[in-house]
Amino acid sequence: MIKKILKFGGTSVGTIDRIQHVANIIKKEQSTGCKIIAIVSAMSGKTNELVKLSREISHDFNKRELDVLLSSGEQVTCALLTGALIELNMKAKSWLNWQIPILTDGDHTNARIINMHIEKIEKYLDQNGIVVIPGFQGISKVGDVTTIGRGGSDATAVAVAKIFNADSCEIYTDVDGVYSTDPNKIPVAKKIDKISYDEMLELSSLGAKVMQPSAVQTAMMYEIPLEVRSTFTDRKGTKIFNQENIDYTKSVTGVAYSKDDAKITVIGVEDKPGIAANIFEPLSKAQINVDMVIQNISSDEKTTDITFTVKRDDVSKTKQILKSDCKINFKEIIQNNKVAKISIVGAGMVSTPGVTYRMFRALSDESINILAISTSEIKLSVIIDEDNTLKAIKKLHSIFDLD
Ligand code: ADP
Ligand code: ASP
Ligand code: MG
Repeated sequence: MIKKILKFGGTSVGTIDRIQHVANIIKKEQSTGCKIIAIVSAMSGKTNELVKLSREISHDFNKRELDVLLSSGEQVTCALLTGALIELNMKAKSWLNWQIPILTDGDHTNARIINMHIEKIEKYLDQNGIVVIPGFQGISKVGDVTTIGRGGSDATAVAVAKIFNADSCEIYTDVDGVYSTDPNKIPVAKKIDKISYDEMLELSSLGAKVMQPSAVQTAMMYEIPLEVRSTFTDRKGTKIFNQENIDYTKSVTGVAYSKDDAKITVIGVEDKPGIAANIFEPLSKAQINVDMVIQNISSDEKTTDITFTVKRDDVSKTKQILKSDCKINFKEIIQNNKVAKISIVGAGMVSTPGVTYRMFRALSDESINILAISTSEIKLSVIIDEDNTLKAIKKLHSIFDLD
């Protein structure tokens, strides 16, 4: 019997009508003879609302309690969906993270699923029961509730697919697949029928929130084929799988953007060996991820400027570390939060020369200044002024024939 994991995102379970609609999708799937495990997100906006509440108590709200709070959103939809299935005369049962249990490792708010118990659930599936599980959470070794990072229900779905050895893992969302760029921002974006894990991982890490990066990473590691599809239409979705299965005719597959980054410039540091290490070592010890780094050529051979990007949330901590923990002298620190990271991604870039210059030329034709650059084999990212985000995406989308 085919075993399917169906994951429903926040918009898909955002209202009672939608939850009833999801129950009908599950009923239809089960009627084709499949075993179904459904994973649900919280109603759209709920998790943000809970974060906001915690901040009204403290900006440094206790992380253990934050996990207890945030995990409650999924508990609500889990029960509502199961209730809706029962109303449709289906045999269905919800299983909370501690009841399964879903075991996690790592810090509160950023844990990682390592295992789960499958026997009870397998038995229920064998009895034609539909299993509903809340996404985004688990429990730690000591039995505390944990959450696994924002957008984490995708990761729960992939972990469940792996551990239950499922035949398919379908991510139901509010768009009918992965597009060349965010279709809600650029209406001429085109749906991609199939995409490799590598490209999807780059796109999602660089801002395409349609899939959570760590979910794609796990799927890639264990070769779990994914399909992203719409809860609201019957159209075929996007298949995410191994690169060998894909035919590349385009150098660029998609354009992603994010507004999570900030640019920091340390002005007037000594130009001698060890300075960069002295700056970045304490940042790494504080778990601050540095993305792009540029060191200017020293004009007087004594001092230079070092520019780098970090997540916006890490800016104050970064500045504090630069001022107190780094063994360096500098003149001043400048920060710019109003930047966006625009990236082009494509496995076809490896075999197509000239992609880099075409991107730079296109941005310059639009009078967009590039503030920092980073590249890998299949992606090229630039930092630009946030105000130019839409103009840049539109231009790149059009010159790489994605419209
Ligand atoms: P869910 O709540 O179902 O998990 P998300 O909001 O996390 O849904 O992800 C779906 C959203 O991702 C879409 O509404 C869309 O605006 C956005 N998105 C960003 N980039 C892309 C892309 N390249 N393709 C499709 N959707 C994208
Ligand atoms: N509800 C969680 C979030 O908003 C997890 C998810 O939706 O995937 O981040
Ligand atoms: Mg999501």
